[in-house]
Amino acid sequence: MIPTDTHRTSDIISRLEHEHSATEGELVLLLKGADDRALFEAADRVRKASVGDGILLRGIIDISNICMHKCLYCGISATVHSIRRYRMPADEILRAAEGIKRAGCGTAVIQAGETPVLTTEFVADLVERIRSDIGLAVTLSLGERPESDYRTWRQAGANRYLLKLETSDPLLYAAMHPGMAWTNRIVCHRNLLRLGFQVGSGVIIGLPGQSVRTLARDLLLLKRLGIHMSGNGPFVPAQGSALESHPSGSAELTLRFVALLRLLAPHVHIAATTALSTVDPQGRQKAMAAGANVIMPDFTPIKYREAYSIYRKFHTVDDTPERIRQFLEQFSDEIGRPLDSSAGHYRGPSLLPGSQSDGGSV
Ligand code: SAM
Repeated sequence: MIPTDTHRTSDIISRLEHEHSATEGELVLLLKGADDRALFEAADRVRKASVGDGILLRGIIDISNICMHKCLYCGISATVHSIRRYRMPADEILRAAEGIKRAGCGTAVIQAGETPVLTTEFVADLVERIRSDIGLAVTLSLGERPESDYRTWRQAGANRYLLKLETSDPLLYAAMHPGMAWTNRIVCHRNLLRLGFQVGSGVIIGLPGQSVRTLARDLLLLKRLGIHMSGNGPFVPAQGSALESHPSGSAELTLRFVALLRLLAPHVHIAATTALSTVDPQGRQKAMAAGANVIMPDFTPIKYREAYSIYRKFHTVDDTPERIRQFLEQFSDEIGRPLDSSAGHYRGPSLLPGSQSDGGSV
């Protein structure tokens, strides 16, 4: 049995802060809420010392909701028939990317469901134009693709790739993703790291059958994988999905997860996710005070947003780059930290032996 005395908890938090290590059992204890205040304060100190005060900005464009997968939690899964499917034409994507630049964000995140309709060449051409014509760093989030696609996109200039692990439990993964294999996810992570991408990963908190121990293992695996960025959000029910009646994940647990990841992997860029702000309107602010340093505003043209409801979102009036900029400035004032308009590359130590993953140039 784990003793839960205050003395032991503060020892664990102190070791996390100074040595960035903990056992699975210790992580379980802190995930259960042994001392949130001390945990969040330690994560905030480590965030300040390792990645600084700047709020990194990644502008998202959801370029298509067409998806061949049947993920139980997802509102754009192939099994959801109530949404209109779309694919944005290249000129609209480029216009949205120009908006990202105008709003002072250094990176465009090109995200979509998984579909061969987004051809290797279409994506490569987009990457080249966003990097050279618009001058933004590019993160791709297009799911599992053959290594040859990843190579082509890296050669076209893509800096980063976001592919969430979703869970470290292969059985839970199989239950949530019919027809998909967890091991393939790991293979994709390794391929991306080898190609020199900065790689983003993360999990969903509150999936059915997930325990606090699963989350402790998630944390340890995210550290071991040698990733550069992480987005971790609570599960939010999506209309029409198989899990539409399952309750949302907990904001508190998500905040503890964010704080523990910051302590385990000090230099990783950690997002305050939209999913978190969906279950707690102050969620983004709280995450920024518990170790997060990135926010990812949505620049998808308003006419497509309803159809990209991966979960129930509260649609905001932030529908133009100018209004998004206003929101960002208010957010920055509110938390007392400056907006960072740089590309926001990973600046920590090399995480994998032989890896060249600074993602900065090709
Ligand atoms: N197809 C790409 C992929 O799988 O990486 C990108 C699109 S996918 C919809 C983006 C992310 O949305 C997933 O990695 C998943 O973590 C998140 N997501 C989807 N449905 C969700 C839900 N109901 N609650 C919380 N997160 C969800």
